[in-house]
Amino acid sequence: MDFSLSDDLLELKERTERLVREEVIPYETDIRQTPHGPAPELRRELVAIGRRAGLLSPHVGREWGGLGLDHRSKALVFEAAGYSPLGPVALNCFAPDEGNMHLIEQIGEAHQKERWLRPLAAGEIRSCFMMTEPAPGAGSDPSMLKTTARRLGGNRGEFVIDGEKWLITGAVGAEVAIIMAKTESDADGPAGATMFLSPMDAPGIKIERVLDTLDQYMSGGHAVIRLDGVRVPENAVLGRVGEGFRYAQVRLAPARLTHCMRWLGAARRAHDIAADYARRRTAFGKPLGEHEGVGFMLADNEIDLHTSRLVIWHTAWVLDQGRRGGHESSIAKVVCSEAVWRVVDRSMQILGGLGITDDTIVARLFREVRPFRIYDGPSEVHRWSIARRILRAGGTDA
Ligand SMILES: Cc1cc2nc3c(=O)[nH]c(=O)nc-3n(C[C@H](O)[C@H](O)[C@H](O)COP(=O)(O)OP(=O)(O)OC[C@H]3O[C@@H](n4cnc5c(N)ncnc54)[C@H](O)[C@@H]3O)c2cc1C
Repeated sequence: MDFSLSDDLLELKERTERLVREEVIPYETDIRQTPHGPAPELRRELVAIGRRAGLLSPHVGREWGGLGLDHRSKALVFEAAGYSPLGPVALNCFAPDEGNMHLIEQIGEAHQKERWLRPLAAGEIRSCFMMTEPAPGAGSDPSMLKTTARRLGGNRGEFVIDGEKWLITGAVGAEVAIIMAKTESDADGPAGATMFLSPMDAPGIKIERVLDTLDQYMSGGHAVIRLDGVRVPENAVLGRVGEGFRYAQVRLAPARLTHCMRWLGAARRAHDIAADYARRRTAFGKPLGEHEGVGFMLADNEIDLHTSRLVIWHTAWVLDQGRRGGHESSIAKVVCSEAVWRVVDRSMQILGGLGITDDTIVARLFREVRPFRIYDGPSEVHRWSIARRILRAGGTDA
């Protein structure tokens, strides 16, 4: 495994760190932050900062306006961006747009990339990804998909989509949606799930409500959507009919990993704030950090951060080899989502009463990192799939 860092990459990482420290962090107290993410004009201002610094859309190919970084390079830059929850907004590499851009770049037709990927990569528009449904529809088990896409008869070349989606991040303010729906087999394709690209203002797409949630940083929040006879033309199919579940994996393995990278940056921020406090604050005659109970929490933070970084780097290397990396990204998702949670929780404990106030960003990070153990596959589902793989392998060498 080659983990060597070129001078160019180190410069990029340092430039990102500087940008976040000097230009992004001051926005954390901006009043244009809402319970459903930064207001649109705040997002545009942040994106303008990333654009001016030449750091926009590091994950997208250069021909579409990004920096064309591989997964290992992203690991460095995304962690640096994640040091502030607004950093990924400034670099235009936040969820779900980052994963959506990746998917469109991988499997989209040229006309779809021109129409949607180019303005997405430029930070001009936002997108959302509609997979999850309220019970009894698709959740941890995507095969329970209830939303349907019926092909209209004759030569009209259209699909009609009906269903209900929920927890759809960024739907409010998005220009385009990737909709996952069940399709029947016909002469043009097998039965299964299919992904469609649809403008959000298409007749029949209705945002029913925006959910009030624990987390508050994701642009547009999380919404409940009704799809009522939404018509999409044949050329809006993303990839091929019936292949939606396969493409979901194309999106999910790297998207899980980039979440790990960004949240690792956030956890490092919480740890730095706690370590600084433990050096300065005294109790019982000495700095807090010199009490073993606190020192051990700092050490455990460092161990969790280091382990997460190693797991991310290994998985990024696997993806850079052109492998699917589903198994490795499952492991990384469990390791990192649980480790960043522990780091932020310990950091809050070290800060004492200060930790639960909004005088530091730690309390906000605490709310932000908890849902990461649920989205992109709850920890239990990843463990279950890792266990199935172990059992399929037919025993160990022990
Ligand atoms: C902040 C946030 C943002 C999201 N954004 C989007 C989005 O943009 N688009 C989108 O489509 N979806 C989105 N989701 C939905 C997310 O993908 C689902 O919440 C997730 O897949 C789990 O599905 P569910 O909520 O229906 O949980 P359920 O399927 O109801 O599962 C509930 C719990 O059951 C347990 N469980 C389930 N299966 C197993 C198993 N096999 N073994 C052991 N335990 C199990 C787990 O503990 C799980 O948490 C988002 C969710 C959150 C929290």
